[in-house]
Amino acid sequence: MYLKRTLNDELITFKGLRFPYKKNSKSSLRYRVTVGIGGNIGDVKRRFEHLFFDIKKQSRVELIKTSLILKNPPFGYKNQDDFFNSIMILKTSMTPKVFLNYLLRLEKKFGRKRSFANAPRTLDLDIIFFDNRVIATEKLTIPHPSWQLRESVVIPLSEIQS
Ligand code: ADP
Ligand code: MG
Repeated sequence: MYLKRTLNDELITFKGLRFPYKKNSKSSLRYRVTVGIGGNIGDVKRRFEHLFFDIKKQSRVELIKTSLILKNPPFGYKNQDDFFNSIMILKTSMTPKVFLNYLLRLEKKFGRKRSFANAPRTLDLDIIFFDNRVIATEKLTIPHPSWQLRESVVIPLSEIQS
């Protein structure tokens, strides 16, 4: 069950039991990571719920907070369904490289197939921030490029920090 709110012709927010969510106790794990989650194939909100429980089960990752869910239009390749996006704040002891591989495995587990850039997807997991790190390698750009320009990141993120 989600409480639905229309922001304008293009943007709708959804609030439920697990989005937004805030853990009560403190975490002992080392790094704080902001992860952007998104998808536009099938029942994405339901997939986010499954992801929530999957992450909660993992001992190397602790789920600290989630934001509301934002429905918003696709960018880049426009001829596809709207996206659902949310933000998760996690703590982990993994290094950025190992953590990226963990996310890529999770995407696969939730049915992600790679085709072309900005293609429809079941689940996209992007590292937005990793502590205060700045990383620019072939496989990893942190902070995530142009996150400030994406409603899919900025709107859930502004809500999570308030
Ligand atoms: P996008 O998210 O841009 O639509 P993909 O999800 O297909 O594209 O990501 C492809 C690759 O992007 C990943 O295999 C990873 O190596 C690289 N990448 C670079 N920076 C990041 C980041 N901050 N978070 C996640 N993936 C990243
Ligand atoms: Mg991605």
